[in-house]
Amino acid sequence: MKKRVIVIGAGLAGMIAAYAAQREGADVVLVDRGSIGLGTNSAMANGVVAGPTGSYGRKEYIADTIAIGRGINREPMVEAAAAEAWSAISLLRSVGLDVVEGANLYSVRSPDPEVIPGVAIVKKIAGALVSLDGFRAITGFYVTDIMKAKGRACGIRGLSATGKETAIAAGAVILAAGGAGAVYLKNDNQKTIMGQGYELAAKAGLSLWDMEFVQFYPLVFADPHLPSMLVFPPYHEAVELTNSAGEDIVMKYGLGNINEAVIKKRDEFSATLFRELQSGPVSMDFRNIPPKMWKEHPLSLLARMRHDFSTEPAAVSPAAHFFMGGVKIDEGCETDLPGLFACGEAAFGLHGANRRGGNALLECIVFGSVAGKSAARRAVESDARSMKRPGPAPADMSGGKGDLRAIRREIRGIAWNDAGVVRSEKGMKEGLEKIGEAQRKLKEAAPANERDRRLKLDLESAAFTVKAILAAGLGRKESRGSFLRSDFPGEDNTNWKKNSCLRYDAGHDLFALSFDDAGQKV
Ligand SMILES: Cc1cc2nc3c(=O)[nH]c(=O)nc-3n(C[C@H](O)[C@H](O)[C@H](O)COP(=O)(O)OP(=O)(O)OC[C@H]3O[C@@H](n4cnc5c(N)ncnc54)[C@H](O)[C@@H]3O)c2cc1C
Repeated sequence: MKKRVIVIGAGLAGMIAAYAAQREGADVVLVDRGSIGLGTNSAMANGVVAGPTGSYGRKEYIADTIAIGRGINREPMVEAAAAEAWSAISLLRSVGLDVVEGANLYSVRSPDPEVIPGVAIVKKIAGALVSLDGFRAITGFYVTDIMKAKGRACGIRGLSATGKETAIAAGAVILAAGGAGAVYLKNDNQKTIMGQGYELAAKAGLSLWDMEFVQFYPLVFADPHLPSMLVFPPYHEAVELTNSAGEDIVMKYGLGNINEAVIKKRDEFSATLFRELQSGPVSMDFRNIPPKMWKEHPLSLLARMRHDFSTEPAAVSPAAHFFMGGVKIDEGCETDLPGLFACGEAAFGLHGANRRGGNALLECIVFGSVAGKSAARRAVESDARSMKRPGPAPADMSGGKGDLRAIRREIRGIAWNDAGVVRSEKGMKEGLEKIGEAQRKLKEAAPANERDRRLKLDLESAAFTVKAILAAGLGRKESRGSFLRSDFPGEDNTNWKKNSCLRYDAGHDLFALSFDDAGQKV
């Protein structure tokens, strides 16, 4: 009998892991609370994939990734990404994607300028997956626990699409549940991405590393009638960015041009915009763009929206984009819990204190492949029991109480104000108190229906993740990479060139924080 591997999360990392595990001989069950590929952060990606190219050597790629990560990347992971980048690009091409090599990165071109490249990627990979023997997808399945037996992962528990509590046994489990951008008031992620994977891992006994490092993208639409969507680069030279006094922000701060500011000074740029927003809205003005340009990507995406950008500027803001932190994995992507593997944004290590553009998609493909292969091999060593029958239908939820949407606003506000672009000891301490209060309200809230039951689970993960960001951030008394503190504005390599490690004590609902140099050790 073949052995079973369960993959949690059907974004790029999970789909690639499922593909690799099947190719390695396992029966694969891919579960997602939504659908396969679509509805994930991967589907929103701009299609930039980092890696060495013909004119950009492996050494340069490694040096740049570590320089951007401010020296606390796990170097063996950076080396693995560099070594496997070419295979990753070949894999994308093998499923029919158009991958163009640039000077120091690759771009996946969508066949239709009105379709986000990420959608083209996930559709092609999903297409390759569904035709495989021994592959099964379960959509609408919300994982609530990673099951353990005899000190190793042996399956998952969760809610099926109809709300039935269900357990599924497996010889190995892969955590590919993504990051947590949507815990912030302003973010460009899918709105359900709230750190569920981090909470699942911590509840299974794993430490969380580098949770204070959250990358903010400087330019996301902030008009209430527009989706809070990243304004995709590159930006045409005619685009202007103005503050509430009508000043040109790029000129005011000597940022060169918007593209340069986004690529080379992203964190400084986000902090500048964050401060400007304290005195009024910041607008992006596309009115001087030549009409013929609106047919080309990325402007073609804007041309489809209800707002007429060619006649009216739009409000913009920085927003949470990517989580550098997560679960520690070894060279086979196995976590400290035997039989549990992790890949994609759920894992930590490749990026250090900040992420080089394009390294997230590369990470999904390289480490998704490794996780899939290793999990399939590991699953063979243990007996996968057959799938358990679904449990009873959930209890009557007619008497709901507590306003979950108000609690969501509260958690997102705490994240934005106290664990956001620029932080301070005072703010983070206040944030911890406020998040404790939100957790108390959540505990008392009773969902009125299945949808709210999932929202409550999302919010528990969100509050847990914000607490982790604050706990790790309070300990780091410096600024590094994406992490900026107003009370410790400088980088301190003597004391803080280290990774933070949070061990969760479920009994007391507390984190124990330590700092370690995880960079060289795998
Ligand atoms: C707007 C935008 C543009 C980007 N552009 C780029 C780019 O051009 N290049 C680049 O390198 N990176 C880019 N990134 C980052 C990159 O897209 C993501 O980091 C990456 O796609 C994450 O992939 P993943 O598979 O780890 O997670 P995801 O794609 O987020 O998938 C995780 C899946 O797990 C599911 N899940 C979570 N918890 C549970 C649970 N408890 N039960 C069941 N299912 C669960 C989620 O619903 C989700 O479907 C971009 C990100 C954004 C937001």
